[in-house]
Amino acid sequence: MSGRVAVVGIGPGDPRYLTPEAAEALVGAEALYGYGPYLDRVPTRTGQSRHPSDNREEGARAVAALRHAAQGARVAVVSGGDPGVFAMAAAICEQIETGPESFRALDVVFIPGITAMLAVAAKIGAPLGHDFCAISLSDNLKPWDLVERRLDAAAGAGFVIALYNPVSRARPWQFGNTIERLRRLLPKETPVVFGRAVGRSDETINVVTLAGAEATFADMATLVIVGTRETRLIVRPGQTPLVYTPRAVAEVSA
Ligand code: SAH
Repeated sequence: MSGRVAVVGIGPGDPRYLTPEAAEALVGAEALYGYGPYLDRVPTRTGQSRHPSDNREEGARAVAALRHAAQGARVAVVSGGDPGVFAMAAAICEQIETGPESFRALDVVFIPGITAMLAVAAKIGAPLGHDFCAISLSDNLKPWDLVERRLDAAAGAGFVIALYNPVSRARPWQFGNTIERLRRLLPKETPVVFGRAVGRSDETINVVTLAGAEATFADMATLVIVGTRETRLIVRPGQTPLVYTPRAVAEVSA
C-alpha cells in the first residue's frame, strides 16, 4: 500500500490567507509534520497525530514524513507562506531523489500558499509592479560570497529585491552588510519596506529610505523589500503612503 504526502502552504499567518485547498488537505491528513509554531496554527483534530520539529531540521523532517507515508498514511507537511519558497517542498524533493525507491512510488502533491513577499507587497501598494527577485540572506546552505554576488547582480540589473531570512541568532551581521552593499549600488532615497509578522496580531509595516535603513529594523519574522531607482512613494493625507514600482522602465539603470 502506498500513502500520500501533501506539502501544504498555510500562508503568512492570517487564517483568511489559507486557501480552501490547503484547509482541505490539512483536515484530510492523518499525520501532520512541520516546524512547531506552524503546526500550532493548524486547528487540532481528533485522530490526527502531530510531529513538530525544530526550524533547522528540514531534511530529517522530510525523511520522517516520507517514511510515514510509505507505510500507507496520509501525511501533510506544513510550511509557512508557500512551501516552494525557501521551505519544505524542495526538502521533500531532495529526499525523494536520494531516498529509497518507496519514496518515488508515493502520491505527492504541493499545495501553494501566499508567500511573505506577496503578503507584504499587498499591504503597501505595488512594490513588485516591475521585475523583481527573491534572495534568502541565510548562508546556512550557501556561501556568503555567493549571496553578495547575487545582491550586486540583482541591484545592478534593476530588480526589486525581496529579502527573506534577513536575520537570525546565528546570523547577526549579514543584514547590516547587505544594507551597506546596496547603498553603494542604489540611490540613498530608494524605498525600503520592512514587513514584520504580516497577517498576525503583532504585524508592522514600515517604509524608510535606503539611507535610513538600519539592521535593527529586521528580525527573523521580517520580510524586506528593497526598491529600484524607479520605485516611488506616494504620500497621502491621513493615510499610510503607497510604495509602487511603475510597470514601465525606459532603460536599465545601474
Ligand atoms: N515559505 C515561507 C518563507 C520561509 S523563510 C514563505 O513563503 O513565506 C522564513 C522567512 O520568511 C522569514 O525570515 C521572513 O523573512 C519571511 N516571513 C515568513 N513569514 C512572514 C510574515 N508573516 N511576515 C513577514 N515575513 C515573513
